Amino acid sequence: MSAGVVIIGGGQAGAEAASALRAQGYEKPILLIGDENQAPYQRPPLSKAYLMGTLDAERLPLRAESLYDKQHIELLLGQTVVDIAAPLQRIRLRSGSVLPYEHLILATGARNRLLQIKGSERALYLRTLPDADTIRERLASATSVAVIGGGFIGLEIAAAARKLGKQVCVIEAAPRLMARAVSPLLSDFFRDAHEKEGVEILLATGIEEIEDAAIRFTDGSRRAAEVVLAGIGVVPNVELARAAGLAVGNGIAVDEFLITSDPNIFAIGDCAEFPCVFANARAGGRVRLESVQNAVDQAKCVARGIEGTPEPYRDPPWFWTDQYNYRFQMAGLSNGHDETIVRGDAASGKFTAFYFKDKRFIAADSVNRFADHIAARKILGSGTKLTPEQAGDEAFDLKRV
Ligand SMILES: Cc1cc2nc3c(=O)[nH]c(=O)nc-3n(C[C@H](O)[C@H](O)[C@H](O)COP(=O)(O)OP(=O)(O)OC[C@H]3O[C@@H](n4cnc5c(N)ncnc54)[C@H](O)[C@@H]3O)c2cc1C
Repeated sequence: MSAGVVIIGGGQAGAEAASALRAQGYEKPILLIGDENQAPYQRPPLSKAYLMGTLDAERLPLRAESLYDKQHIELLLGQTVVDIAAPLQRIRLRSGSVLPYEHLILATGARNRLLQIKGSERALYLRTLPDADTIRERLASATSVAVIGGGFIGLEIAAAARKLGKQVCVIEAAPRLMARAVSPLLSDFFRDAHEKEGVEILLATGIEEIEDAAIRFTDGSRRAAEVVLAGIGVVPNVELARAAGLAVGNGIAVDEFLITSDPNIFAIGDCAEFPCVFANARAGGRVRLESVQNAVDQAKCVARGIEGTPEPYRDPPWFWTDQYNYRFQMAGLSNGHDETIVRGDAASGKFTAFYFKDKRFIAADSVNRFADHIAARKILGSGTKLTPEQAGDEAFDLKRV
């Protein structure tokens, strides 16, 4: 009997890889190893409906545990892989067990970046279900909340805390919100949205210390904060790969087939750095993305590769975030754009910003314009041409492209 596929990481990418392999007709053993105690679950609701208490924990699992049995996928939960012996095609668990593999998929994800300031031990972080439970419990008895980091997760937490009636302050070191991923237009839109809901947004602001129930800023001023939450980005889990001698950049380095520097080992999801046709070529054309779409589509790509029908990974990136009544959806990567065309009206809370580079359509950010988002994904995926004039003309049906 072949050793089959071993998947390290029981998150979105790992779980998807296991079921995609079965869907592709893979018949050899599949072992999915995760160091969390829960069967693979969705993380997106943790900062949204689950935090607000409008979605129960039973709705979080990606699939029923019985389905893993049914598909002969062996789940090993609460177990950490501590070593990969790549030349021998074996991994070792912390418990000491050594297990063979024919193909290994690294889906180790990412962990939260930690604050390095005085009093940082008082901050809470959100990545896992137990993190979300702790935050829910702490929020229940708090009136004032400070969120350090004005990225997607920080802003979703701020919106959830505000909906729960808390006094909320968001502190961001950069001069605008979500600066790493969105254009100034969207940063300004969401700043307004949060301020209208009563959230205080402090930009370009430095923190001196997290005190017992307050934040002290570098200018000496303070804000009350019985609960301090930090969402300042993540660090990919690459240590295992690096120790095994695999190439590592801003993530585990893979080629367009998502194969690492070892031909029997793949890397997918938040931990993988890959060549991306949608990335800014001037910035090297390689990216590491943190999204459900990327985890799911890369898992499917690797499953095809292992089953003998390899295709390069070319899926257009997309992402969503929910804040208040706004569903914000991104298609493509807007970094490096030189022209922005807006369809709809930001003041109405329903609009899409189409981004172009050298007249080439590269990305679209939609707020409450689902049809635009879907059309943008299709246009990017098919490589068809959309001109700035067509994008800006409401009478032009994007589906025609
Ligand atoms: C609060 C929150 C909200 C989000 N909201 C959105 C959203 O709205 N839209 C969106 O597109 N994306 C969202 N994301 C991002 C999305 O959830 C991630 O991109 C996705 O979960 C990545 O999947 P992954 O499998 O690569 O990594 P992960 O889900 O992080 O899974 C990796 C797993 O591997 C385990 N692991 C690591 N090392 C080992 C080891 N050595 N041995 C065993 N196990 C190991 C980890 O503990 C973890 O369980 C959100 C993320 C968070 C945290």
